Amino acid sequence: MSKYEINELYDHAQGAFHLKNLLTDLGERSVYDAAAQCNRCGYCGTVCPTYMLTGRETLSARGRNQFLRMLIEGKVAGAETAAESFGTCLLCGACSSACYAKVPTPDLALEGRRSQTGYGRNFLAGVAVNLLLNNRGFFEFWLKAAFLLKKLGFAGLADLLGLYDFLGLPALSAAQGVLDRAPLKFLRDIFNQDPALNPKGKKTVSWAYFALCGPNYIFPEVGLASVALLKRFSGEGVFADNFCCGLIAYNYGRLTEAKEFAKKNILRFEELTAAFGNFTVVGDCSSCAAFMKTYEQLFTDDESWRPRAAAFAGAVKDILEVIDAEQVTARDRGAAGRTTYHDSCRACHGQDIRKEPRAVVKKLAGENFAELPESDWCCGGAGAYAFTQPALSRQILDRKVRNIASIRAATVVVGATSCLLQINAGLKEKYPSAKAVHYSVFVDGLTNPSAKAADVNPPKGRFTSPTI
Ligand code: SF4
Ligand code: SF4
Repeated sequence: MSKYEINELYDHAQGAFHLKNLLTDLGERSVYDAAAQCNRCGYCGTVCPTYMLTGRETLSARGRNQFLRMLIEGKVAGAETAAESFGTCLLCGACSSACYAKVPTPDLALEGRRSQTGYGRNFLAGVAVNLLLNNRGFFEFWLKAAFLLKKLGFAGLADLLGLYDFLGLPALSAAQGVLDRAPLKFLRDIFNQDPALNPKGKKTVSWAYFALCGPNYIFPEVGLASVALLKRFSGEGVFADNFCCGLIAYNYGRLTEAKEFAKKNILRFEELTAAFGNFTVVGDCSSCAAFMKTYEQLFTDDESWRPRAAAFAGAVKDILEVIDAEQVTARDRGAAGRTTYHDSCRACHGQDIRKEPRAVVKKLAGENFAELPESDWCCGGAGAYAFTQPALSRQILDRKVRNIASIRAATVVVGATSCLLQINAGLKEKYPSAKAVHYSVFVDGLTNPSAKAADVNPPKGRFTSPTI
């Protein structure tokens, strides 16, 4: 018997657990109508990683949409099978990119997960999300305590003490094992003290940097590089001093908290807009940037917040689409060795961003650039997927590493922090002559005379054979 039970009748009225409507590429649809848009053509079967690896219909986009439709109609009795079908979806969106009917399968799979009794109601996850929402200082204190133990060589102790569990993020326990270093200073600490990002004395700004949790808490070098790029190429800006975008809560089924995070950020955006007029909100993790662009969808049942959410969403840009290739010149094209670009799912499928970052990376790498086969195939990171579905995630990662090895790449440029964590974990184990680097770190490293070359310079001994 599954840990969760599927509600016999899918209740549209449960606002705390279900979105009222979805904003699809073909217009606003009820969840049922969006699922019913799937005509079962199977065209997405050629791009869905979980289907291609297993050949199982229930692990395809078509199967998931069918399950949801039957759930809403009250026809599904097999809770075990449906839970597996929704739980194994990477939410990568490759199916939606390929689909003529533009069925939003990732949103539908999440609706399916939320229809499971108990999903998202884990006590510790609730504590963590609420701490992040209402007491960031305390959340950050615990996270720093765990990271400090890691720095002192006692990473296992943080685990034993249950710090990661306390944070409701058991995925972090496994993630810290593949982190080279854990930061003791978060981006919020740094940027709130940066006079160049202080709103005081400014009348207009072109951008506000939005510190997303990956860069803020795990990879501050990414945020530092993004802000360095924005300062050089996009004029005056400020630090948004924002809250978590809400994606963690959203993906864990906690819709109410996801909306609260969104509201806090919208309020902050409105304060800044009142002071500076129009500007761009720039984030540097594609998963979160894509989510913030869909804030309006969280409020289709709330006419007072909906237009405000739409205004916020319209101002969001991924750092991948901010820099123009015309603006950059490489100070040392060879520094990164043979370079390729991995399309993070929520950049290419979630936001249709492919050309802009590729043009910049190609220009900076010059003849060292090589296209990555299946570059828009998920790497298996997908938020916490590597930890919730380790077997499938491993197969997907192996395929990504094989593709990287096939072109003998030394540097893999990515736009999402979960890809950074996941691909580097795979490379470290099976193709250690290459490494993944965030787009901002790569671009800043090759264009900023004062950046450290080591940031984009892969380890020696490249071009070894993969051991897959
Ligand atoms: S999701 Fe789209 S591509 Fe896939 S079976 Fe349904 S209609 Fe066809
Ligand atoms: S979101 Fe990805 S894993 Fe899920 S059904 Fe679509 S292609 Fe398959």
